[in-house]
Amino acid sequence: MRKKIVAGNWKMNLDYQEGIALFNEVIDLVNAEITSSQQAVVCSPFIHLQSLVQLAKVSGKVAVGAQNAHQAESGAYTGEISAKMIWSVGVKYVILGHSERRQYFGETDALLAQKTDTALKNNLTPIFCIGETLEERQSEKHFEVIKAQLYGGIFHLDAEAVSKLVIAYEPVWAIGTGVTASAEQAQEIHEFIRQVIAAKYDQAVADGITILYGGSCNPKNAPELFAKPDIDGGLIGGASLKARDFVDILKVFNA
Ligand code: PEP
Repeated sequence: MRKKIVAGNWKMNLDYQEGIALFNEVIDLVNAEITSSQQAVVCSPFIHLQSLVQLAKVSGKVAVGAQNAHQAESGAYTGEISAKMIWSVGVKYVILGHSERRQYFGETDALLAQKTDTALKNNLTPIFCIGETLEERQSEKHFEVIKAQLYGGIFHLDAEAVSKLVIAYEPVWAIGTGVTASAEQAQEIHEFIRQVIAAKYDQAVADGITILYGGSCNPKNAPELFAKPDIDGGLIGGASLKARDFVDILKVFNA
């Protein structure tokens, strides 16, 4: 059985107090309403991480993730945060390769391969994001783009290491736009990702990897998306900023 995960990505939203208040609301709702074994993950800005880990300990049902980590172990990189630092406060996950980081911070597949290595070396579970732009989909290059991102970012890993990752398929045209990929479009890519992994490694590795869908996912469209055989949950941006919506998405797996 693959792990089912719903991960919230708060992005650069919420000051410290607002973040704590939202997380407390999420924990209260999760404690009251979530019975099955899916994993809730909240990926906050760095300033919240340590406090969220402490709050999460009491509930035990929510894990905490960062949204980025530097590729170097340590050193003269003013303003950056290392994977070791993130792990040291009790954080378990880190989002890598989000399209906003690829687009606004110039993160390439080669850089992301290094970040993935460093995150894994420091015990973090990368939530590794891939996805095509609208232009790439319209010119029918989406399969090619996805394959190249897998090869460039994570296929240097051996089977054991790659099995530790969570992959998130996030079509760039669906992120923050209110336009969701249809459940069929998402399933088609998730199945393709598993085929590419099976061809590179083997079927057991492909079958074991949790693959999330991200892109304007909300409580209304999540049931149809998560019912697809290769979709194991979601990476949730906007809707993760409302505790009720985030937990309603998690509850899809309760049904
Ligand atoms: C995201 O940023 O990872 C994301 C999926 O955002 P949204 O849900 O707002 O589209």
